[in-house]
Amino acid sequence: LGESERKAAIVFGGSRGIGAAIVKRLAQDGFQVALTYLSSPDRAQQLVEEIGALGGKSIAIRADSADAKEVDAAVTRTVETFGRLDVAVVNAGVLRIGPVDAVSIEDLDLSLSINVRGVFLAVQAAARQMADGGRIITIGSNTAIRTGSPGSSVYAMTKAAVAAMAKGVALDLAPRRITVNNIQPGPTETDMTSSMIDRLKDIVPLRRVGRPDEIAGLASYLAGPQSGYMTGSSLTIDGGYVL
Ligand code: NDP
Repeated sequence: LGESERKAAIVFGGSRGIGAAIVKRLAQDGFQVALTYLSSPDRAQQLVEEIGALGGKSIAIRADSADAKEVDAAVTRTVETFGRLDVAVVNAGVLRIGPVDAVSIEDLDLSLSINVRGVFLAVQAAARQMADGGRIITIGSNTAIRTGSPGSSVYAMTKAAVAAMAKGVALDLAPRRITVNNIQPGPTETDMTSSMIDRLKDIVPLRRVGRPDEIAGLASYLAGPQSGYMTGSSLTIDGGYVL
């Protein structure tokens, strides 16, 4: 395909972990990919180089998901660079754990700001500039269904909000044939979970944690043509954890 015919995607929070795996997978699927990052410029740049070495095209954009202007500018730059926007994956998220009587106002505000407000801002900015027939994918969490362990109230609350948001946005964008779906991973091996992996392995029925590329496989399906009749859905991919 010529460059202008290759579809374009943006992954918010694409420098590490699940987001980075999704960036790689979409590039393998033939997308031109923009990824946003905040604290990991080196990891973001390394990913762009890896994709370039494989013949793909990608750009890294510094954009704090808490900042509406930066989020909007990232979408604009994606469209200016690639000439179009077909897929948006909203992955950026933070995990702050603590029992209800110990949660700080800073952790509460950061969690809401990135995991809820930031997701909405990214979805909104992408929807405004996306082609009809496009795809929006959010990354929630299976904690929206089964919170499972003490200290997760704030995180679970934010991820339940994402699942509800996906349903509402799906209805708004249905007339434009833009689908909106929410992936709810279970325990997956990334920086976010590195300190908990051993404990998590024991509570997952499949007796292991997930790999970022397995979550990326589901994102690939949702970004592709075969998922066109699915919208407003939240899909768990969690080794059976919520069962
Ligand atoms: P990581 O902590 O490994 O990576 C988080 C990513 O989000 C990084 O690329 C980071 O970029 C980006 N990010 C964080 N804050 C911001 C911000 N303010 N602006 C822009 N980017 C930001 O997390 P995971 O890969 O594990 O998680 C990815 C998503 O999946 C999250 O939404 C998480 O809640 C969800 N999830 C993860 C599970 C797991 O077991 N790992 C289970 C269920 C859900 P940078 O480093 O550049 O700041």
